[in-house]
Amino acid sequence: MADVKDPSVRVRFCPSPTGNPHVGLIRTALFNWAFARHNGGTFVFRIEDTDAARDSEESYNQLLDSLRWLGFDWDEGPEVGGPHAPYRQSQRMDLYRDVAEKLLAAGRAYRCYCTTEELEERREAARKAGRPSGYDGHCRDLTVDQIAAYQAEGRSSIVRFRMPDRAITFEDLVRGEITVTPENVTDYGIVRANGAPLYTLVNPVDDALMGITHVLRGEDLLSSTPRQIALYEALGEIGVSDGHVPAFGHLPYVMGEGNKKLSKRDPQASLNLYRERGFLPEGLLNYLALLGWSLAEDRDFFSVEEMVDAFELGKVNSNPARFDLKKAEALNAQHLRALPPEEFVRRLIPYLQAAGLLPAEPTAGQLALLAKAAPLTQERMVVLGEVVGMLGFLFVAPEDFALDPADAEKVLTPDAAPVLAASIKAIEALPAFDDPDAIQAALREALVEGLGLKPKHAFTPLRVAVTGRRVSPPLFESMELLGREETLRRLAGALERCS
Ligand code: GLU
Ligand code: ZN
Repeated sequence: MADVKDPSVRVRFCPSPTGNPHVGLIRTALFNWAFARHNGGTFVFRIEDTDAARDSEESYNQLLDSLRWLGFDWDEGPEVGGPHAPYRQSQRMDLYRDVAEKLLAAGRAYRCYCTTEELEERREAARKAGRPSGYDGHCRDLTVDQIAAYQAEGRSSIVRFRMPDRAITFEDLVRGEITVTPENVTDYGIVRANGAPLYTLVNPVDDALMGITHVLRGEDLLSSTPRQIALYEALGEIGVSDGHVPAFGHLPYVMGEGNKKLSKRDPQASLNLYRERGFLPEGLLNYLALLGWSLAEDRDFFSVEEMVDAFELGKVNSNPARFDLKKAEALNAQHLRALPPEEFVRRLIPYLQAAGLLPAEPTAGQLALLAKAAPLTQERMVVLGEVVGMLGFLFVAPEDFALDPADAEKVLTPDAAPVLAASIKAIEALPAFDDPDAIQAALREALVEGLGLKPKHAFTPLRVAVTGRRVSPPLFESMELLGREETLRRLAGALERCS
């Protein structure tokens, strides 16, 4: 099929600002954003903060910060504005009240006086009788007298949307045609007894008013789609909108450990976790893209630009996707290796700063050292945070240098003492200390030839002594970067420990 671009595409990403952003949410943002950018359309960012009890300003700020970190730009939304402002639902409450009034006046919604207990009782009875257990329409056609009687009793009421008595069919862009019969989508609440409009109302109202053309969202929301379609139609009939119903595409579930749906509360699901560990936005997005989509059968590694170029809904898969941390890490490692060296250095800095190994304003000397040391690690890292363990030994103040206790215990035994002593001598005898190959040659001669040791046995104690750990960047380069004086000081410290 030819790839026809449609710049009239308008999609939205509309999270509720509760808790921390999670990877499922970001996957939704990515697919919407890529779809908008692929088509040259509009990406609307809307904040669904109608639940004052659960929403928080902190979470709102985190959402904005997260999208920016990931590199998503929005054409309309918080801070950028747009023709349908405001984009925070908490600032649109009057509008929703007005729409609810219009739906009531037109008979497309009605007041329901049933108490929670009554509803529960009737639901239970329906269940027992094997009937569908949605709302039974009790208050659909109350007479004026019945209403007066309920009000006299002091009952409160919610507003319910009146579903049409016919099946609703739509073509899901991912899952194909879906039909639901009226018994299975019953009248539903749109305004609480206290007057607060519910998600069920505000989400479709805003989609309608904002001219949203495609709703791409998680499969967990699939069951609300028929109800929302009926509401869009009603909004058109009563003149609130032009009656346009967006196309829907439901993105597959993301499964976590033990083949259970990845839940928001899953620690593995927290975006912040990936950010703190040092995932690159490009690595994480590449991985999240694969949760329900693929660029080509034989290509897992790609850039977000390549995704945008190729992104079509026809290729979104309806099968549940499995979240595979190892795969995410492997892709991130690949993106790390693909960074130009200066860029790699630039990305490492915040992690060294967070660990207290670099000051807020690194000196020219520190930056030069990092520029020389970084290439030793670029091929060995999975996440940027590893720089702290790998290069910390170079940036730590001499008085703060510490050996990994387990590695020291294992390696710096009395057997290591002659190795360290011979190394100190060999290093002291070197005419210069600026060539890793020369350092290596001298140490080989002293330890492998001189003491008759296997290279592995010869060099492991040196590695622990100098870098603090058994796993480190290449040893001789590390020594050279550290400098002769500090290398000797650390070898001597380790020697003292062994004897
Ligand atoms: N605020 C809703 C949510 O976060 C949006 C649902 C939708 O995309 O329609 O679940
Ligand atoms: Zn009722």
